[in-house]
Amino acid sequence: MRFCSLSSCSYANSVVVQDNNTCVLIDCGLRKRDIKPFLALAGLTVGNLDAILVTHCHIDHIYGLRFICQEKDLPIYSTTNILRKLKENTRFKTMPKLIPFSQRAANKIGSLAVTHFSLSHDVETIGFVLSSNGERMGFLTDTGFVPAGCLDALQSLDYLYIEANHDPDLYKKSAKPPHVIRRNLGPAGHLSNGQCGQALQSMGLERCKLVVLGHLSEDDNNPALAIKTVRQHLAPGINLVSAPSRTPGKWSDYHHQRTPGAPA
Ligand SMILES: [Zn+2]
Ligand SMILES: [Zn+2]
Repeated sequence: MRFCSLSSCSYANSVVVQDNNTCVLIDCGLRKRDIKPFLALAGLTVGNLDAILVTHCHIDHIYGLRFICQEKDLPIYSTTNILRKLKENTRFKTMPKLIPFSQRAANKIGSLAVTHFSLSHDVETIGFVLSSNGERMGFLTDTGFVPAGCLDALQSLDYLYIEANHDPDLYKKSAKPPHVIRRNLGPAGHLSNGQCGQALQSMGLERCKLVVLGHLSEDDNNPALAIKTVRQHLAPGINLVSAPSRTPGKWSDYHHQRTPGAPA
């Protein structure tokens, strides 16, 4: 299993995950003009995708859904409530197949098994564990804190994509309005670098090959600071990188085949 961030910031989020048989997109906040070029940079076309998973209905996660669904009739998976909101708020040309996740068992999407868990954001939001061929990847973004319930699901991961949104000290100089700052720092906002690091400490990451930090605020964070803060909570042998903000990053297998500490 491998994954590649196509865009990761408050402007647009989208991550592709694939194994030998199945390729899914998690969220599609991309602008229409970026969808094909960003997939091409990852060596893919829309035709390679089998399905889209949606974490929640904020615009930076769903903006491009109606455009990508015009290119290919892709099924969209999420919870019943999130799919209902998506249907209400998105002007699809042709309504895609909306498939609610089962609450009881892992959902099979081709050869990938997907389980989901609830997060703490100001709209209903879910994270995922995707499994294939004995490997497990955790996906966790847009949450004010990491609810204790998901830590059970996030043990013994091989890969993790996790939000490290902001540095609280940088918010002291932020130009954002006070109510936005309160929301982003609060329990229904976003994970700070420190909260992200503490969450990693609570996950049994001994066998983890790669942690990718995502959804970094372009105003109130920077990659070096996020990595420095999170690194303090992570064993030195585990690869840690941040996803680029508005452009595709490298596939995960590029990073975890590097020697930890070597230049990227
Ligand atoms: Zn977001
Ligand atoms: Zn959000």
